[in-house]
Amino acid sequence: MTILHFSDIYEITPVSGGKEGGIARVATLRNQLLARNPNTLTTLGGDLLSPSAIGTAQYEGDRLAGRQMVDVLNHFALDYATFGNHEFDIKENQFNQRIQEAKFTWISSNVFAADGHPFAGVKQNLVIPIHDKKSGKTFRIGMFGLTLPINQPSHVRYSDPLTTAHAQIAQLLDQQSDFIIALAHQNISDDIKLLQASPQIGLLLGGHEHENHQNWRGNFTPILKSDANVRSVYVVDLYFDPQTGKTEIKPTFVPINDNLAEDPGIKAVVDQWMTIAFNAFRAQGFEPEAVVTTITEALDGLESSVRNHPTNLTELIAKSLLRPYPAAELSLYNSGSIRIDDVLPAGQITVYDVIRILPFGGKVQLATIKGNLLIKVLNQGLANRGSGGFLQSAHAQQVNGTWQVNGAPIDPSKTYKLAITDFLASGKERGLDYLNSNNPDFTSINPGENYDIRQLVIDQLRNNSKN
Ligand SMILES: [Zn+2]
Repeated sequence: MTILHFSDIYEITPVSGGKEGGIARVATLRNQLLARNPNTLTTLGGDLLSPSAIGTAQYEGDRLAGRQMVDVLNHFALDYATFGNHEFDIKENQFNQRIQEAKFTWISSNVFAADGHPFAGVKQNLVIPIHDKKSGKTFRIGMFGLTLPINQPSHVRYSDPLTTAHAQIAQLLDQQSDFIIALAHQNISDDIKLLQASPQIGLLLGGHEHENHQNWRGNFTPILKSDANVRSVYVVDLYFDPQTGKTEIKPTFVPINDNLAEDPGIKAVVDQWMTIAFNAFRAQGFEPEAVVTTITEALDGLESSVRNHPTNLTELIAKSLLRPYPAAELSLYNSGSIRIDDVLPAGQITVYDVIRILPFGGKVQLATIKGNLLIKVLNQGLANRGSGGFLQSAHAQQVNGTWQVNGAPIDPSKTYKLAITDFLASGKERGLDYLNSNNPDFTSINPGENYDIRQLVIDQLRNNSKN
């Protein structure tokens, strides 16, 4: 049998300026594999519902929130998926709708609804019979699914992955599985621990790192991961010898690029959703295809960069917050509002690129903040380094351990004017719940109803190109 595996797919279209990825190209590969071997299954190792710019588009009374991806994967005829941590970014009702809409089978062994029961329709494990026409024999694949327990909204409960795996494998062996596959969305260090604890696993199809991995444990069990957004996939041929009971595994790493034609049927479905999303952005006042400017230097929006230090992109956004408020002495926003996790190459920037950078948008307000509170907030921003709560600023910086605004140490008793996103100003960021309108040291002066952060960034980009 053959398995086509990928994970961490956020975009329904190709990425890297159209050169790489694209589920319609993977559909062509899948058809080729099916023609070669009808016993071909497709697996997805988690992270498909969020985040994406398209997913934020309003349609039929709600954000798409992964509806576009589930529909595309339904047409693609995906067979099995497990949950990634990002499946729990979206609201409970959206998540439940996506589970119901999927025509593929969800397998999850350690993620449960708040009441401790599996989500409706989600399998904890599965034995997949593969019939060989030539020999008339049946090869039984046992599969279970694991997700790393880092995203914990109130509608989700996890059980320990290692203990769960142990119990699942026992069940699958009881059901006469010939070969056990773990479909897992976790860190590779945890994948390695899992294989060390459970040597009965024959193949680990993984995800989460966004980068491809082929790591053989004990020379027998491979851990396989593809690049995010189907910039690559793995094709795994499994040869089962019914005489000896042994399985031979031959993985092939396949980059997905413009050498592979797009399947016209899948491309048509993708195009429909892109039209729906672009129309929704137009209804919000954005013309997605409009060219904002041409940049000569790549803009770094990688999460590993923006959540740890300022980049040329974070500084551009920080400056754009100051545009409507000449009185503001500094600006402040959370790096988690940047979701593109990509480097924007030099060249044309469209309005859609800006939506991809800041898919959730949000208003920018003018507020006053007491110096001692500002220091506390900036320290918390630093403590949040590595996460979306790491703060980015124009004009505030730490020099030799002292916070400065415009080059002068912050005076704890002085009141400062700042441009700040409404998300941050409503106490929703990690460790910053005290930063809200109930705090006497923080006062909103202009709620910024007319200042969407995306429009300000568009204006800033246009202005930069004039200078
Ligand atoms: Zn993940």
